Amino acid sequence: MSLRILRGILFIFSALIINYDSTSYGQGDINNPIDPNDTETIKAVDFYRNYLAEFRIQKASLPDFTKYWSADDCKRYLVPDPELFGVDATIPTYLLGTPRILYARPAGNIVHIKTMFSRNDSNGRPLVISITNHYVMLKDHIPAYFINPTLVNSNQWTFKRIRNITYYYPSSHHFDRKKALSMAKKVIALEREWEISPVDIHYYFADTREEIEHFRGFDFTISMGNRDKPSGMSDGANNIVYCGGWGENYFHEVVHLYLNKYFPQSPLTEGLAVFYGGSMGHELPWHVKRLYEYLQSHREIKLYSLDDLVYLDNFTNPKSTILGLLCDKAYNAGRLDALKRSLNYVSLSALLQQEYKVEADDFDTFIRDLVARYALAHNGNE
Ligand SMILES: [Zn+2]
Repeated sequence: MSLRILRGILFIFSALIINYDSTSYGQGDINNPIDPNDTETIKAVDFYRNYLAEFRIQKASLPDFTKYWSADDCKRYLVPDPELFGVDATIPTYLLGTPRILYARPAGNIVHIKTMFSRNDSNGRPLVISITNHYVMLKDHIPAYFINPTLVNSNQWTFKRIRNITYYYPSSHHFDRKKALSMAKKVIALEREWEISPVDIHYYFADTREEIEHFRGFDFTISMGNRDKPSGMSDGANNIVYCGGWGENYFHEVVHLYLNKYFPQSPLTEGLAVFYGGSMGHELPWHVKRLYEYLQSHREIKLYSLDDLVYLDNFTNPKSTILGLLCDKAYNAGRLDALKRSLNYVSLSALLQQEYKVEADDFDTFIRDLVARYALAHNGNE
């Protein structure tokens, strides 16, 4: 079958599903019904519904963004939709709940669509996952396209470029040049050590993570409302960092952008970022010390695998702390060569067996020993 015929069949198939999907939402997916004479708003909502339907049809792959986003956005970003992976780093936001359009409001040439994505929890009550905003440009622009919410929200933002990193931040934030230079120093050291070229990074940051989520287009995400702590997300497809609470120096996410691509199968990449750049506002020794104290006072815990580890609290992730420790151990034993060798394993059990002769039965002893040695050696350090 030729590619053209196949595309034709797929097109008819998708058209049927898109129709089915949008009619199945019908007016039922809209909180405030739209005036049936308001053809412009109806057109914008149909455009938006078709976009959402694309994700339901082809869950495994992304749609052709050029059908929905401006040429500029498509040129600049591999994934031009900043809300798409804003709730979960791997599952599209639009698959994380059933959409209900709260309203579609025309404003000049633009129709602003606000949508709630929710599902029912185990008690049958609504669990809201996100509330998103989309801006459809219609008049004089055929075909229609989405205006990037970061553009809509950027009037209060400014930017500054230091070496290969462009920092974007709210104008109310006083840019800390010292922190940015400290970041540049770490980046240069990483490039030299790994013999790699600078990566052109767009670094969006604010004092809190919630500000970043608003900037990306969200009114609400399920992670909002918790006690705020430094946190970040890296978008490897677009070389973007989004982070809040650690200012100009969130090196952890930058390490992901530099190094993840060399070890796509490695279970250690999170540890690599923690090893070089700490996590949630603290360097590796701070987390290890907390994990050590926790394991000391919980001798009844038997560690069978990293996935069995109990989450201490909201501030130290034991799994990423231990992955960071494994990177540190390899690095101290044989610098970059040993670290790269560890990163080339595709499973932790193979890494532990082959590098350290640790079988599943010895896992508990090995991890406790690893944590204790490091904690005692770094006693007194942050
Ligand atoms: Zn990370």
